[in-house]
Amino acid sequence: MTLSDLLWLQNSVLLGAIVIATCWESLTPAVPFQHVGTRALHIGRNLGFFIVSTIVSSLLFGGLVVLVLNWAQRNGIGLLQLLPLPWWLLLPIGFLLTDLGDYFFHRLMHTHRILWLAHCVHHSDPHMDASTALRTHPAQSAAALLWKLLLAFALGIPLWVIALHDLISIGITILHHGNLRFSLRIERVLRYVIITPALHRAHHSPLQPRCDSNYGGLLVIWDRVLGTYCEPDDSGMPERVGLDALREPATQSIWGMLLTPWRVRHIAQL
Ligand SMILES: [Zn+2]
Repeated sequence: MTLSDLLWLQNSVLLGAIVIATCWESLTPAVPFQHVGTRALHIGRNLGFFIVSTIVSSLLFGGLVVLVLNWAQRNGIGLLQLLPLPWWLLLPIGFLLTDLGDYFFHRLMHTHRILWLAHCVHHSDPHMDASTALRTHPAQSAAALLWKLLLAFALGIPLWVIALHDLISIGITILHHGNLRFSLRIERVLRYVIITPALHRAHHSPLQPRCDSNYGGLLVIWDRVLGTYCEPDDSGMPERVGLDALREPATQSIWGMLLTPWRVRHIAQL
């Protein structure tokens, strides 16, 4: 598969998941928007921010990262490259290691001040829906790509395994940000395997102990095993989301989101 095939496939999955989740939110929203216009503005801003962020980060660094990963693989760099594993063993091991790497990167973004200043833009969304998944600051995207490079060099996870993991992860990430109402019974079963909308809504709470939990992007096992799992609020009342220090309209525009890491660097309680 060529680089352009991979990017095309990832963008198709992203677009497909966004369309499905947005239609689902229109039919059975967990927390309805008060006005259609407010919802349209919210989605438009997150989509606009995503386009700006993608142009700045992925198009500048994304292709370079794939080229470097290919080079590392051809030259047998990384732990898994040294082991003569069959594909059926390489696939689950590489998949789990990629997911664990994503977990640790997300946890690092909450504990390292510089990374948090970029990641807080994602958490500053006062309404959570599928478009919130698009709200990623370019500094965070660039750091995430760098993290993937470090992991690839250390662990030697084949590019096709990372690509497969990321394709599934993109779909799940869009859905667990979704403002979706569905059966609590099904949700309680799913939360033993994957990060569900209720689990991720707890992660978007303005209360720090809840915000500093449920770091998983796809699988929930890492939170459960490493002590960062937090039960969602099953009371039926929608849990508050967003950051109290970042609710001003000026922080919600595309320009405001871009400047947030710089503007809020002195706010100690953030
Ligand atoms: Zn987070």
